[in-house]
Amino acid sequence: MSKAGYYGDFGGAFIPEVLVSAFQELVEAFDQARADPSFWQEYVDLMSTYSCRPTPITYAGNLTRHFGWARIYIKREDLNHTGAHKANNVIGQGLLVKRMGKSRVIAETGAGQHGVATATMAAKFGFQCTIYMGEVDVARQRPNVFWMQRLGAEVIPVRDGSRTLKDAINEAFRDWVTHVDDTHYVLGTACGPHPFPEMVSYFQSIIGKEARGQILACEGRLPSRVYACVGGGSNALGIFSSFLDDPVELVGVEAGGRGLDTEAHASRLACGDASVGVAQGYKSFFLQDRDGQMKETHSIAAGLDYVGVSPVLASLHEQKKVRFEAATDREVLDAFSLTLKNEGVIPALESAHAFAQAFKEAPALSKDDILLINQSGRGDKDIFTIADALDDPEWKDFILGKAADYHA
Ligand SMILES: *Cc1c(COP(=O)(O)O)cnc(C)c1O
Repeated sequence: MSKAGYYGDFGGAFIPEVLVSAFQELVEAFDQARADPSFWQEYVDLMSTYSCRPTPITYAGNLTRHFGWARIYIKREDLNHTGAHKANNVIGQGLLVKRMGKSRVIAETGAGQHGVATATMAAKFGFQCTIYMGEVDVARQRPNVFWMQRLGAEVIPVRDGSRTLKDAINEAFRDWVTHVDDTHYVLGTACGPHPFPEMVSYFQSIIGKEARGQILACEGRLPSRVYACVGGGSNALGIFSSFLDDPVELVGVEAGGRGLDTEAHASRLACGDASVGVAQGYKSFFLQDRDGQMKETHSIAAGLDYVGVSPVLASLHEQKKVRFEAATDREVLDAFSLTLKNEGVIPALESAHAFAQAFKEAPALSKDDILLINQSGRGDKDIFTIADALDDPEWKDFILGKAADYHA
């Protein structure tokens, strides 16, 4: 890094004047915590008693035999409390909030997973909690809204713009501007202004640290390829971080949606549709038109449906340290079913993107190859989307009945 918060030409902190001191305070708190070995130990201890860390790696013997030779392992982030790697980030930020002596947290959420994780952390630490969520998402994601409220959080529907994730982020920043003294904004992925990309990656690096030791213990050598899905980029950076200096091929898998030849996808780095710009406080690749207006994106997985991407990944892409690919909705559903039936684990639709890409590549590999797939979360939350997509008449009535409230 040349300048604080820059990764090559990407990153930075494009923030309004009123937030400068809040960001300075956060940078200082994070730098001090990172320099203090007892902070990481406190974090690891809490994760092991509250979120089932270390999460195991699972040898996928049936998938290995199905595709031929390459030995396939799964890193089980689905076993975290609240069902995904998001716990790693929110618990870490919670410890920082405690250090800074603040009493209130706010967050944006799209599908609601980050909102539930943040509300959970707030309940555990005793913070007040407000979650901003686009009105469209509030209607689509009733179960997550239900749990956030039960956890004691206030959920505020955002009625601006397209009433989805990016509008929720803007509203959360507006709240922060007026409550900087007692409030911390818990950003959900490795995007946004410095220090968020670095800080979120730091907490998520627990995935890679564990996985590297685990695969060495099982196989006595490193994997040949590591696969992770890429929304904002936090689970990918988390697992990749421990292999950046090794002869390991790192593969980031984006949402190919209905195909990269259509407009209905959310691929920023695997295809040429995105361009460099500054939005939401950072410089990176965005899916935008020539006037800088953000485009509509699409993915079967809500967590990958985002216009921007981590500046850290944008830089790794430019340095050719990570290869970016995309998996379509169809490929993802096939990979999801295959994984479930062969291994008895339920990947989130987001995570199934990483499986889909690994499955495309596995048949051409040899018995000397080891593949490690990051299962970022569990798929129970995707019941309606999956049942709908499978189009099974036996489940139609149930799905339509629920979907009436769900797809309002
Ligand atoms: C939110 C989410 C993602 C996408 O976020 P990243 O920051 O790209 O990791 C991926 N998988 C699951 C299960 C999620 O909940």
